This record gives sequence, C-alpha cells and structure tokens, in this order.
Amino acid sequence: MAKIFCIANQKGGVGKTTTTVNLAAGLAKVGQRVLMIDLDPQGNATMGSGIDKRQLELSVYDVLLESATVAKARVKADRLEAAGCGYDILGANRELAGAEVEMVALDRREKRLRTALASVGAEYDFILIDCPPSLSLLTLNGLCAAHGVIVPMQCEYFALEGLTDLVNTIKQVHANLNKNLQIIGLLRVMFDPRITLQQQVSDQLKAHFGDKVFDTVIPRNVRLAEAPSYGLPGVVFDPVAKGSVAFVAFAKELVDKMPPASALQSAAPPPEDVPVVGVNPTESGVGGANTAAATQPQEKNHDGV
Ligand code: ATP
Ligand code: MG
Repeated sequence: MAKIFCIANQKGGVGKTTTTVNLAAGLAKVGQRVLMIDLDPQGNATMGSGIDKRQLELSVYDVLLESATVAKARVKADRLEAAGCGYDILGANRELAGAEVEMVALDRREKRLRTALASVGAEYDFILIDCPPSLSLLTLNGLCAAHGVIVPMQCEYFALEGLTDLVNTIKQVHANLNKNLQIIGLLRVMFDPRITLQQQVSDQLKAHFGDKVFDTVIPRNVRLAEAPSYGLPGVVFDPVAKGSVAFVAFAKELVDKMPPASALQSAAPPPEDVPVVGVNPTESGVGGANTAAATQPQEKNHDGV
C-alpha cells in the first residue's frame, strides 16, 4: 500500500514543485514505484516531469470531478523512463482552477482525491502530491488523501512565520477530516551555508523540531533551477549536480525511515504532539528584524549560485 505524502507550504516559491518532481525521480531511481500528482493549476510539476500540460487529454481535474479514474488519467513520460527514473504522472493545467469553484456545490468535496486514490494505492510505494501555494480546497483534497505532509522550507525569518499557519491547518484537518494526517518532516531547501542567518535558523529548527527535521539538506543549486526548462527533474537532467545528489539522498532517507503505510495510519500522533514552540522567531531567539533585513540583500547576491 502506498505511502501518500503532500508536499505543502502555503508560501509561494519555496521549492514545493522542485521537491516533488526530484523526490519522485529520486525514489524511482532507487527502485520505488511512484505516482506524482500535480494539484496546482500552474501545472509546473506536470511540465517539469516532461508532460506538456496543454496536451493533457485527462488530468486531475477530471479525477476530482469523477469523470475519469486515476488509472485512465495518469500518464508516463518517455524521457524519465529512458533515464531509469520513470514515475506515473497525474497532471494538471489551468482547467484545475475551475475545479475549486465547481466542487463547492458537490458532496464529499474535500475527500474526492482520497476516494479516487483508493483504487490505485496498491500499485505504488509512494504517492507524492504537489500542492498549490494556498490553503485552498485543492490543498484540502491533498491533505485529506495523505498520510502526512513534507514541508519544504527555506531557512529564513519569514519561513518560520508561515509555518505556524500550516501547522494550524494540519491540526484542523487532523481533528476534523483526516485523523491519519501528520507532519512527516521539514525539509531544508535552497540552503546556502555561507549565509549565517540560514545556519542559525537551521540550528533552531533542529533544536525545536528534532527528528521532524530531515537529515538531508537540499543546497541552492542552479542546475535544479535550470532543469524545468528542459522538462526534466534535476535528478534526470544533471544527475551529478549537488542538488540532484541531495535529492537522491533524501529519497533514500525517506525509504529508510518510513514505516509501512499501515503503521503510518495507526501511529498518527494527536495534533497536540505537533511541536509548535519556537515557530515564532522572536520567541525562539532566531534572527530578529534587524538581522533579517541585514541578510536579505546578501542573500539576493547568492541567487542562482
Ligand atoms: P509555487 O508556490 O509557485 O508552486 P514552489 O513552492 O513550487 O512555487 P518551486 O517552483 O519549486 O517552488 O521553486 C521556486 C523557484 O526556485 C523555481 O525557479 C525553482 O527552479 C527554484 N529552486 C527551487 N529549489 C531550488 C534549489 N535547491 N536551488 C536553486 N533554485 C531552486
Ligand atoms: Mg509549485
């Protein structure tokens, strides 16, 4: 039975899609059967997996509106298969934005993805869901379908602030809609050890969230940013780039650490167990307005390094 994880963070541009496609490719590379679901009308995970979102005959939109099954709507990308990193793709395009509105009037509107996945769960080891940068009905469908959430985050002052909202949403979904839902872990992405504040925030995350912070750190690496324009995950585009190597290491970390899906269900902690202390950076002693302001221009200089 597949372990189903949402890659979520309501903050935009933090690396959700990059994490989803590279983790999917990395898991496939180490022999796991993977389904990647693009739950964002931007369709970036679809394009970044080598599927032209404009050419999709069926997409996750049809699955949510129950006009197609996952088995009918999923596709494969030849170039991923050829590279030995093939995974199935349930794609998305702009049509999905309409689903939000259309689903409002329907019954079980938060649980449509969950219902649809029941018939294919046995075919995969992992199902990864790329969520949009909002806490919308689409994201809610992802959270209701999942065993847990992987939260990619940059080690910055404002990233910590946003975490509070996400943790609260996860608590609410856990309490009302999906008692299995838990935080699988926080993944530090776009990390640049030369920036002192990033190192400090990283240390604080470790101190407060303990083993909920993954050991693997994804560095800032321009090859990961270039790969989507070639319609490939970095792991396939440039397997030896340090960002790609890190994503394969992350895939291995997940495979090694995760219990079977059945244990994930029964081991789900109550929401009170989600550690939230230290999320507020002023309370935790991380940075502070002056430090953050002083560091931001410096960080811009490192963009794309
Ligand atoms: P959105 O909220 O719009 O869905 P997102 O959270 O999915 O965004 P991405 O699209 O994955 O974020 O990444 C945002 C930008 O940062 C992209 O241009 C991407 O190529 C780049 N990027 C992501 N991770 C890295 C990295 N480790 N090193 C360098 N660039 C990165
Ligand atoms: Mg995205």
